[in-house]
Amino acid sequence: MKLAAFQYQAKCYVGVVSSDLQSITPYQLSDEQAALGALPIVEMMAKGEALPAQGAPIAMKDVCLLAPIPKPRRNIFCVGKNYLDHIQEIKDSKLGEAQGSMANLPKHPVVFSKVPEAVIAPGVGIDSHAHATQELDYEAELAVVIGTQGKGIKKADALKHIWGYTIINDVSARDVQAKHVQFHIGKSFDTFCPMGPWLVSADELDSSKAAIKCWVNDELRQNATTELLIFDIPTIIENLSAGITLYPGDVIATGTPSGVGMGFKPPKFLKKGDKVKIEIAGIGTLENPVI
Ligand code: MG
Repeated sequence: MKLAAFQYQAKCYVGVVSSDLQSITPYQLSDEQAALGALPIVEMMAKGEALPAQGAPIAMKDVCLLAPIPKPRRNIFCVGKNYLDHIQEIKDSKLGEAQGSMANLPKHPVVFSKVPEAVIAPGVGIDSHAHATQELDYEAELAVVIGTQGKGIKKADALKHIWGYTIINDVSARDVQAKHVQFHIGKSFDTFCPMGPWLVSADELDSSKAAIKCWVNDELRQNATTELLIFDIPTIIENLSAGITLYPGDVIATGTPSGVGMGFKPPKFLKKGDKVKIEIAGIGTLENPVI
């Protein structure tokens, strides 16, 4: 099942994407619920409630996709330093110097968060914030969406708590990250969390073997699979939920592979007019221009 949030004739909807991706069948929700995208549906399913009735299918070409969870209820959890090659490329960069021993291989998942207001839809511009950063960068990531509440979740049970997956671009201001040492500010600027194109339910994707690619304009920059994760998704969930209750609709970005702009010599930071396209096999593509 693919759940998409979208706008059609100036109204927000959430619905099920057809298997040929040519149409979306919307649920009948109040305007308030529909503005939350897939979140009300994920929450209804968590409670075991019957899903709302659906209207007539709407052609994909006539809709404007929104982020599947446009207003997460709280910060997006993000795992940093979760691919070996990415740790190495950052360690060798100016940011690695600023981070000192923090740039080394972590023994436990490194987790930070992005504010929920940073989320933007597919196609919406990433603000280059030229007044605040000269080192705008991209990070292609598989994101997990929690389906069932839990605390103290063990690895063996972790997959049962997942509703599904989407794509996140963990946009980062590297100079701001370096300056403040901690990641939160440099990762949370407005528009720094493109999300989409939709949620794919856990039964449709083997998240342990998902291929991730990222292009800037037409140049393939990142090309990896989640088989290379240092801390796999069950390990991330076990660690996060040890002391924090996870709720339906929580979003966890699992980290980015090598090939970010900072990792090139010289670095290839994003500039106005660039287009960042991320593809995860089994999910789809997420493309955003830099404005
Ligand atoms: Mg990241």
